[in-house]
Amino acid sequence: AQKRYASLRDQPAMDKSGQTVSLMMNAGLMADLPSLKGSGADGVGLFRTELQFLTRTKVPRRNELVQLYKRVMDAADGKRVNFRTLDIGSDKVVPYMKPQDEPNPAMGWRALRVGLDKPGILRMQLQALLRAADGRPTSIMFPFIALPEEFYAARDTLLRVRDREAQMGRPVPEELRIGAMLETPSLGFAPDSFYRDCDFISIGGNDLKQFFFAADRENERVRRRYDTLDGSFLNFLERIIARCAVSDTQLSFCGEDAGRPIESLTFAALGIRTLSMRPASIGPVKHLIRRADLGELRQVIQQARNAGQSSVRPAVTSYLAHL
Ligand code: PEP
Ligand code: MG
Repeated sequence: AQKRYASLRDQPAMDKSGQTVSLMMNAGLMADLPSLKGSGADGVGLFRTELQFLTRTKVPRRNELVQLYKRVMDAADGKRVNFRTLDIGSDKVVPYMKPQDEPNPAMGWRALRVGLDKPGILRMQLQALLRAADGRPTSIMFPFIALPEEFYAARDTLLRVRDREAQMGRPVPEELRIGAMLETPSLGFAPDSFYRDCDFISIGGNDLKQFFFAADRENERVRRRYDTLDGSFLNFLERIIARCAVSDTQLSFCGEDAGRPIESLTFAALGIRTLSMRPASIGPVKHLIRRADLGELRQVIQQARNAGQSSVRPAVTSYLAHL
C-alpha cells in the first residue's frame, strides 16, 4: 500500500468528476520538513509554532526564531505555509511562565488570549516571521479566537509590526494573508463582516469538537463519545461552509479528523476543499478522493440525513467500501 501511495505523490487529489481538493500537511518540528516533498503535500496548512517554545527553558531569542522560520519557508519552496501563532498557556505549560491555577485550562488563559494580554512575545514572534519571510508571501493565522474583536486586535498588532519593519527599511511581504482559526462555536455566529475580513479561516476541529459537544479532548472517558459525523456537527460545518462561500473566504479544516479517511471524504463532499493533516494521511486520503465522486457522496450523505440517521458514518463507510 505504501508503494501505491508513493506513486500518487505527484498526482492531484481529483475526484471522478474533476473536482480537486487541496491536501496540505500539519507540521511543527524541523523533523517534519522532509515530509513536505515526500508526502506530496500542497503546503503546510498548519504550522504549530508552540513546539519550539515548549522544548526550551527560556523564551527563544528572536534571531533563533528567524532562523527556524526561514528553514521552514525554504523547505516549502514557495508552497504556502500557514504559521499559527503561539498556542501556549494552561495545559501547554512552558517553564518560563508562571503556572496558572485554572480549573479548566482548555477554556482558560491560553493561545491568543495570552498573546493579547502580554503582547511582547506575540510581537517578537510576528517580527521573527516577517524577517524570516524576507519579502516572500506570508500567511499567518491566530488560534483560539472566540470573538471578532480578538482577531482585529491581533491583526492590528501584526500590521503595526509590519509597518515598523518597513520603516526600518526591512523588506515586508507584499502578500500577507491573515487568517483566523475557528475553534469555538461562537465564531460560527459572528457577523458577516468578520468572515469578509478574514483572508482565510481554518477550522481547528480538535478544539471545535470539544467545545461543540462539551467533551474534553484529553479525557479518555469522553473524547470518543461523540461522532464528528453526527448530523449536529455537520450542520454546524455546513453553516461555516455557506458563510465562507458568501464572503469568498478560503476555508480549510486542520484538526486530526482531516486525516481520517471517512471524515476527510465527508468534509470534502460537503464543500471543504482544503484539508490539512499529518503527512502520512495524505496518500490514503488522496487515493480515496481519486476513486470517489464527491457529488455522489454528497447525495449519499443527504439521504442518510433525510432518513434521520444521527451519524452519516455508516452511509459514508459503505459508499467508500464499494468504490
Ligand atoms: C485543533 O484544535 O484542531 C488544532 C488544529 O489545534 P491544536 O490541535 O494544536 O489545538
Ligand atoms: Mg486547537
